[in-house]
Amino acid sequence: DQFKAEITRDSFCQATTSDGVDVRVMGNIELPEEVVAVGDNGGDGIGLYRTEFQYLGRLDFPTEADLFDKYQDVVEVMAGKPVTIRTLDINGDKALNNQFSADEANPALGLRAIRYCLKKPQVFKDQLRAILRAAAFGNTRILFPMISTYFEICEATRILDEAAESLEKDGLPYNRDIEIGAMIEVPSAVIMADVIAENVDFFSIGTNDLIQYALAIDRGNEQVAHLFQPLDPAIIRMLKHVADVAREKDIKIFMCGEMAGTPHHIPLLLGIGMDELSMNPQTIPDIKRVIRSLNVADTRSFMKEVLKQTTAKSTFELIKDTYGDILAEQLYSG
Ligand code: PEP
Ligand code: MG
Repeated sequence: DQFKAEITRDSFCQATTSDGVDVRVMGNIELPEEVVAVGDNGGDGIGLYRTEFQYLGRLDFPTEADLFDKYQDVVEVMAGKPVTIRTLDINGDKALNNQFSADEANPALGLRAIRYCLKKPQVFKDQLRAILRAAAFGNTRILFPMISTYFEICEATRILDEAAESLEKDGLPYNRDIEIGAMIEVPSAVIMADVIAENVDFFSIGTNDLIQYALAIDRGNEQVAHLFQPLDPAIIRMLKHVADVAREKDIKIFMCGEMAGTPHHIPLLLGIGMDELSMNPQTIPDIKRVIRSLNVADTRSFMKEVLKQTTAKSTFELIKDTYGDILAEQLYSG
């Protein structure tokens, strides 16, 4: 218990590696109320605010005022810490049950996320206006989900500009000077990362979908759950590529997929050079503790060995052999 109390207390301090590198550890939330859990666990901000839940289980769309009200709340509660609001990632595994949602044979490959928003510009613009208005009240970032082609990020930013212009015309307070990010969760976006980087301030890697699309494993299908392997060398090479591009292009690189909240992945993620990790708020204290016990210079040489591996299993064994003592009891819980 005393050990637990210590972890909790430490979680309110920054996570700095033994060689002095700060890594921000953020929380993922779905409901505005969960912002409290991020604070209680010492989160350095919100790395992923999944906004779809305000749209689910109703017959119409929420109004700009409804959305603004919630976003403003979250931004104010976080009191200057970054709040990353992801635009509507509807359909796929989060179905909209109203008349605007079509029956799709293959929803994961269908009209979801940014594709849906670009087809429904009014729905999109209402949300963008709400986000820009909330941004006048605190540290806000905007994140576009499921970018699979350069055109989509161009369109998204163009509509964001239109939303700002319309707020200007309406004389409402807003802030257009916010960081813009692209989720990297489709293999085509990995390949085109250098081009997409020109239009954004940060990448946030969504491993839940990236693994699904790269390894052709339905993220919700139990039959193939054993093949859903974050440590598959194909995934590791993609992460490395995206991080290298981000560094080259001088933009930030974050991860908000579940891979970021698993203790035994942390040496690898630091070795790749992640600036920020976002996860289920309850896991923040553990991840901060792991980060403090690591040395980034070591994790970089460790990455060289990781890149030689040919299977997820041998990669896991390598992690165990190299960092087993540090990870100790957490190694098998993730
Ligand atoms: C992801 O795909 O990794 C992600 C963080 O987003 P979601 O789980 O909401 O698709
Ligand atoms: Mg996703």
